[in-house]
Amino acid sequence: MSDSMSSLLPVVCFDAVGTLIHPVEPVADTYARAGRRHGFELSLEIVSRRFREAFEWEERRDRQGDLRTDEEREKARWRTIIGHVFHDQPDPLAPFEELWNHYARPEAWTCYPDAVRFLDWLRTTGGRYAIASNFDRRLQGIVRGLPPLADAWQVVISSEVGWRKPARKFFELLADRMGCRSAEMVYIGDSYENDFQPASALGMQAFLLNRGSSPSAPPFLASLDELSERLKMMGKCRHEGEALRSHAHDPSC
Ligand SMILES: [Mg+2]
Repeated sequence: MSDSMSSLLPVVCFDAVGTLIHPVEPVADTYARAGRRHGFELSLEIVSRRFREAFEWEERRDRQGDLRTDEEREKARWRTIIGHVFHDQPDPLAPFEELWNHYARPEAWTCYPDAVRFLDWLRTTGGRYAIASNFDRRLQGIVRGLPPLADAWQVVISSEVGWRKPARKFFELLADRMGCRSAEMVYIGDSYENDFQPASALGMQAFLLNRGSSPSAPPFLASLDELSERLKMMGKCRHEGEALRSHAHDPSC
């Protein structure tokens, strides 16, 4: 793609977990193993169910509040979740440090193959991308340690900017950080409530990723493999739009 074309590509922002990365092994396996080290014997089914329950409670609690956050709140979130998973064990928070440190390691995470392919393509265009995530500062080290993501232009993290998605403020700060108007940004995430709805509301071109669904029309993506074609089309439209505008302003017309 030519330089003039790549400059017409929009700025691309991604949600992190569920969009670009996922834990290498199922969360229940990691939690159950950490629990066993402290003599806790819980089935994977119980660990999995309790994790989902507590994760959802914490999400709801933030949405019922003002969505402000910081490092302390994010660490408290994981204390509550881990405390619930092991709530009937002698010392429910005994595995906390191990689990916190485990998910700080880049080796605990991996990129989805379609994310790697898309970012490889984006690099050939010279296009820039950002990661915008509800996470804590551990994500900075994870991104730096995962080669496919290490060249992310910006990593915008809720605990660092002080607001969680879906807060409008988070998306406004993201646009500020990218140095562009929200209408010039493309945002891709796997959550309707946390990603698609608030990004769209601010005027970003948002896509909702639902891997494995049958390919469908925008704003849905069944895979990030579809995204390069969508961006090429958007770049082409912008290119043609600018050509039309410059033609209209040509005094010789
Ligand atoms: Mg996600």
